[in-house]
Amino acid sequence: MASPKAVKEYLAYWFQLGKPIIIARQNKAILPRQVIMGDRYSLEFERCWDLITNPATGDCYVSGTSQTIQELLSSKWDISNCARCTMPVPILDLGLQESSDCVCNDMENWPNNKIPSPRQPINNMEKLTNIHRRLNKINR
Ligand SMILES: [Zn+2]
Repeated sequence: MASPKAVKEYLAYWFQLGKPIIIARQNKAILPRQVIMGDRYSLEFERCWDLITNPATGDCYVSGTSQTIQELLSSKWDISNCARCTMPVPILDLGLQESSDCVCNDMENWPNNKIPSPRQPINNMEKLTNIHRRLNKINR
């Protein structure tokens, strides 16, 4: 089963490549302009996530995919890495990936190592604390 954290990460990565989320019931596509703000997700992204995971919103799916976010959060699906571009993609929990399910299928200029790869928020504070801890050990 895909954890909400993994599904959120999946969304964040594809948003960073310009893939919008489709809200089927409202016939609307949403793409936050900013996904990451320093060491955390942007408020815009968090608002979008709240909307998507609200049962009242109905089915939502990343443009070009057939699995809804609701399905991904069910026990049937998991998130793994695409064989072609290592981006997070939905796989059936049985461990099988249908090639047609690759989100990058309709992206002509992808994989592309000339543009910065999508990433997770980096927690600088955590990193600094780790360095601090290591220095303290050395000084002792
Ligand atoms: Zn791919």
